[in-house]
Amino acid sequence: MQYLVTGAAGFIGSNYVRYLLNAREDVSIVSLDALTYAGSKANLAGVLDDPRHEFVEGDIRDDELMASLLTDADYVLNFAAESHVDRSIEGAEPFVSTNVEGTRTLLDAALGAGLEGFLQVSTDEVYGQILDGAFTETDPLTPRNPYAASKAGADLLAMSYWHTHELPVVVTRTCNNFGPRQHDEKLIPKFVQRAAEGAELPLYGDGSNVREWIYVADNCRAIDQVLREGSPGEIYNIGTGIERTNLEVAEAIIDAVGGSDDQITFVEDRPGHDQRYALETAKLERLGWGPEWSFEEGLERTVGYYLE
Ligand code: NAD
Repeated sequence: MQYLVTGAAGFIGSNYVRYLLNAREDVSIVSLDALTYAGSKANLAGVLDDPRHEFVEGDIRDDELMASLLTDADYVLNFAAESHVDRSIEGAEPFVSTNVEGTRTLLDAALGAGLEGFLQVSTDEVYGQILDGAFTETDPLTPRNPYAASKAGADLLAMSYWHTHELPVVVTRTCNNFGPRQHDEKLIPKFVQRAAEGAELPLYGDGSNVREWIYVADNCRAIDQVLREGSPGEIYNIGTGIERTNLEVAEAIIDAVGGSDDQITFVEDRPGHDQRYALETAKLERLGWGPEWSFEEGLERTVGYYLE
């Protein structure tokens, strides 16, 4: 089976490529990445010379390149995205360009390629915030920041290619991932580094915003299962029920690294900051998936990785 994995030099994409090479013998993977500030070939160190794996530097908005890479592909997983909410508040253009137009380019290239599956990687943020309970896959999309809005646009486009063209699209919406190889602009790697340096850990607002967390290995396994066993035209939430306030995350990192709670500071809140996300995952559980990593085990592994 031949896979095209876009955004493969980023955090989750690079973990997924490793997962797939380990999990199955009979795979051939083309990893595509534009190597923006967020991507690095170093994230694929150790698997770049695997004979089953080829790395291509390129952009998902390049229609000729996408068409040529899709000629022999059986599966496409679209991880490529501009992914940092704060950056989308400073300027939404690259988010709309890569996340919406890039996804459109990839979907068009996939038409007629005879794919077994096209998995669009999405996020819980498309639903907006939820103060009580948890989002199901049929809840309306009310994204509240430009990143989330661009991902919602991509989800809708992808689903429309199923309804209109019968392209076998599945969409996964995952909660916050953590683990090795995440860019250090993101909360956990940034805080591990700063805690270890004795620097301040700046929390938005009062630190009470709640996120649901998944260790990246669990997300990779869920994505793979949805790709192979999910029904085309369906959306699958991927979550764990592991909820933590940002303050609790900061405190857990300080405990793990051996810093001091005095390092925690509170800064002006992010505009449009969602208070809480939570996902209902009965649909994914019906495929037989469940998380294997607790927050504590995942954090221990993650802190060890960044300190090294
Ligand atoms: P990331 O920023 O670490 O990786 C994104 C990768 O995409 C980078 O390697 C970047 O170089 C590449 N890229 C960007 N623009 C491109 C383009 N035009 N063409 C080709 N490659 C391009 O992000 P991540 O955290 O690994 O997220 C991967 C996917 O998962 C994204 O679609 C994101 O929306 C989604 N997601 C992430 C999380 C999370 O907690 N990290 C949660 C839910 C969903």
